[in-house]
Amino acid sequence: MGAPSTTVAISANCGNCSAATGGAHFCPACGKIQPLPRGADYFAFFGLPQKLTLDLDQLEQRFHSLSWKLHPDHFARASEDERQLSLDRSSQLNDAYRTLRDPVARVEYLLGLAGIRKEGQKKQQAPPELLEEVFELNESLDELRDARASGGSAATMAGLRGKLEAAQHKFESSLAGVDRELARVSAEWDTALDSATDEAARKKLMEKMNEVLNRRSYIRNLVNGVRQELAAT
Ligand SMILES: [Zn+2]
Repeated sequence: MGAPSTTVAISANCGNCSAATGGAHFCPACGKIQPLPRGADYFAFFGLPQKLTLDLDQLEQRFHSLSWKLHPDHFARASEDERQLSLDRSSQLNDAYRTLRDPVARVEYLLGLAGIRKEGQKKQQAPPELLEEVFELNESLDELRDARASGGSAATMAGLRGKLEAAQHKFESSLAGVDRELARVSAEWDTALDSATDEAARKKLMEKMNEVLNRRSYIRNLVNGVRQELAAT
């Protein structure tokens, strides 16, 4: 299986026979299970380039095949070291699969690898195009809480609920739009990787993705907040 040219090259040698392993799960020369090499990432773990458009069926197949090969049951009679390696690799396999199969977690992970995305780094601000709607939403939420506290009439409550439901739909469709945008920038990233675009251009794309993710998490919080408020009414 020829590795795609954009796969991160990993230099590592087998602890048993010293052959170069390229970060493979098993030594190509002697077949022994290998430690996780430095610099190995979730993409490399699956033998994939750092691309954001993945064939999910293929990923799932690789996951099942690897989880079978790395399963600790196969190492019951192996050395203590090999048993530990099978545990380490199996656990990383699960983390890698959980992260890569989700398109948003996949982008977050890639940006994290590059040191561009740090969780909870700064307080999120309303995207400019939503400022007015967020302002209206907060007003409706205040009105609803006031009406609830003062025992507002059924008609008042129903009216406020209607307003909030409309806002919820609006923000849900903004969220869908942001997801489409993320998919678009992800595809641009893959193209840039294929055409060996320079470092600066790649960094710019990553910053764009980071900005989209920030907007996404802001809107998702709004949607969740409204949902909770509606459930409590
Ligand atoms: Zn070997």
